Amino acid sequence: MITEQYKEQAYKALHDIFGYSEFRPMQEDIILSLLEGKDAFVLMPTGGGKSICYQIPAILREGTGIVVSPLISLMKDQVDSLTACGVRAAYYNSSLKAAQAKEVLASFASGELDLLYVAPERLLSKSFMQKLESVKIGMFAIDEAHCVSQWGHDFRPEYVRLGELREMFPDVPMLALTATADEHTREDVTKRLKLEEAECFVASFDRPNIRYLVAEKRQPLTQILQFLECWPNASGVIYCLSRKRVEDLAVNLQRHGIRAAAYHAGMPGRTRDKVQDEFLRDRIKVIVATIAFGMGVDKPNVRFVIHHDLPKSIESYYQETGRAGRDGLESEALMLYGSGDVNLVRRLIENVENPEQRRVEVHKLNGMIGFAEALTCRRKVLLGYFGEELEEPCGNCDVCLDPPETYDATELAELALSCVRELNGDFGMGYVIDVLRGSKNARIREHGHDQLKSYGKGADINADEWMSILRQLVHHGYFVQDISRRAAMKATRKAEKIGVSGEPIMLARYKPGIRRQLKRFGAAKDEVLYNKLVELRQQLADDEDMAPHAVFSDVTLTELSRIKPQDEDGLSRISGMGQHKLDAYGERLLEVIREHLAAAPDAESGAKSDIPKLIAKGPPVNDNQSYTYSLYKKGMSVQENAAHQGISESTVLNHYIALIRAAHFIDVPAYFGDKFDTLMQELDDADPYASLSEIKRDLSIETSNEEFRLLMAWREAIGVA
Ligand code: ADP
Ligand code: ZN
Repeated sequence: MITEQYKEQAYKALHDIFGYSEFRPMQEDIILSLLEGKDAFVLMPTGGGKSICYQIPAILREGTGIVVSPLISLMKDQVDSLTACGVRAAYYNSSLKAAQAKEVLASFASGELDLLYVAPERLLSKSFMQKLESVKIGMFAIDEAHCVSQWGHDFRPEYVRLGELREMFPDVPMLALTATADEHTREDVTKRLKLEEAECFVASFDRPNIRYLVAEKRQPLTQILQFLECWPNASGVIYCLSRKRVEDLAVNLQRHGIRAAAYHAGMPGRTRDKVQDEFLRDRIKVIVATIAFGMGVDKPNVRFVIHHDLPKSIESYYQETGRAGRDGLESEALMLYGSGDVNLVRRLIENVENPEQRRVEVHKLNGMIGFAEALTCRRKVLLGYFGEELEEPCGNCDVCLDPPETYDATELAELALSCVRELNGDFGMGYVIDVLRGSKNARIREHGHDQLKSYGKGADINADEWMSILRQLVHHGYFVQDISRRAAMKATRKAEKIGVSGEPIMLARYKPGIRRQLKRFGAAKDEVLYNKLVELRQQLADDEDMAPHAVFSDVTLTELSRIKPQDEDGLSRISGMGQHKLDAYGERLLEVIREHLAAAPDAESGAKSDIPKLIAKGPPVNDNQSYTYSLYKKGMSVQENAAHQGISESTVLNHYIALIRAAHFIDVPAYFGDKFDTLMQELDDADPYASLSEIKRDLSIETSNEEFRLLMAWREAIGVA
């Protein structure tokens, strides 16, 4: 068959079965490659959409697709999700009772299944292998493929033998997928699975929908409670370093009325399973966990991940925060960063016996500190650590959203460069700073470094500030820290340009006692309808003993509550609404939406219908303003009001603003007419960190200064801003 036809089939499946309109980057190419019978290796971050890459070919190809996964706990969930889309899928693992297992094998043998999820040890059992030979196999997918490598962090001995499959079934295409593989692991995986010939698909590891935030750790409980206020009813994970902290924090959150539960390796397995299950079913909202939690939790609608303590390394930070926002919706990763934690980890590292390992640990810690203290875009630092370059600052991290002040640091950079050069690139950052600051320490004298030209030249800048400067210069690529030589600082080629090119080196001003405030606007969806839909989803899920997200994703519910389709045709255009779900649940959804619209016919036009209660945000009004109000209440328009008083229209609007701020009702929605909804929507969606003038500028409808302030006053008074 020619590619065009495969393409058509793939799109049709994407649309009819999964209810999505577009493929994500790489998905299409991967799917086409398998449909053409070729092997593939896929490296894609969590949430990138790996599943569809094998699900669609498995459905379209003749025979059954075999999916090997080590994560037994996820299989039911995946199969439920597929079944809800009308796909014939099943799983075969040790959690099944004998009778169920038999049933699954029977339907597999009769060729009824599109997909069969199998645990590796089951797959390789003699009896199952025999079955494999007699049933038509469409393809193999090896999920979490890094488990095959000893280099990976999650080596599974059962995985090693999977390489045999490639030889036993030379004509069946095989797809290996993972979200975690450095170069080293990747080579190892392809070799062991005999996929050297396979085409390699490597997606960007950026997770644009995750907003990275770092806050100085002061009163963690209070900070976390405040943060949670921004995420009412959302699911999230909070990581702590020790079991004790996990338990304390979970109890404290429960005391504050949050449906939180602890999770750590010291708990009995059954309790842990239960906690995990309740979390998947949205009954527990917040999991407080040690790093033991995560692998094997495939919940797409985790809205936030908080690090109460310093993560072990950038790799683990990336992995742990990556559990947020798999569904692609806006999510946040907050890290509470305290110097106490750094010192604790330092002490732990000092106790590591093996010097080589100690060096690696120090390097990891420094990477983490570099991220936490970054004054440049955090996403840049994060991706840079993995060797991926981000051209522009991301606009969705705390540094981008509230940029620190910058200044011309060319001279300081020159000074640092001369010092590093004088030290021949043999000494670490702390030592460089000591020399620059003219420290009297013995080591410097022993080396005779108090004779260097740069010695003491930077004495007027304190050590913390120097640290910040040097770290930034490292992030900007002027220096590197050589980990094989105790993180010695070396100048790079780029450093040759310092002070020569005439281009100033702009650095971010060091701010002790960081940091930026978290603030957000409310979401733009119809919350009331959304909550009703969540309720319906919970019912449907309970009826069928599935996780709610397997019935509908948050994306689907969000779209439904925004667009409020009132017929089947409208429904079918909602993301995630495949034909099967439409048939199964469409009527119930329409019922809820219609009921909602009937109860609040004007709900679509925001606050237009009912008079909202205003909250006073400013002082009581003066006589002039009060007079304007009396004319307003007589029904005068702004123009009439202005003409009547012989004042300008903008003065009348200014009076309106004061009136609203004093909690007097002015019908602002009516003033803006049909532009109102658009304006409110855009303000809802506005970047919460942008300045007011930027927000105003970006509105698609032009407003005068007074009109803009009127809107903002209104938003404040009704409590959305
Ligand atoms: P991964 O396995 O890579 O972590 P998943 O396969 O679980 O990611 O996909 C993450 C989420 O993205 C799921 O909710 C999935 O339904 C959704 N998704 C995948 N592909 C698409 C697409 N083309 N359009 C819309 N949503 C998608
Ligand atoms: Zn950024």
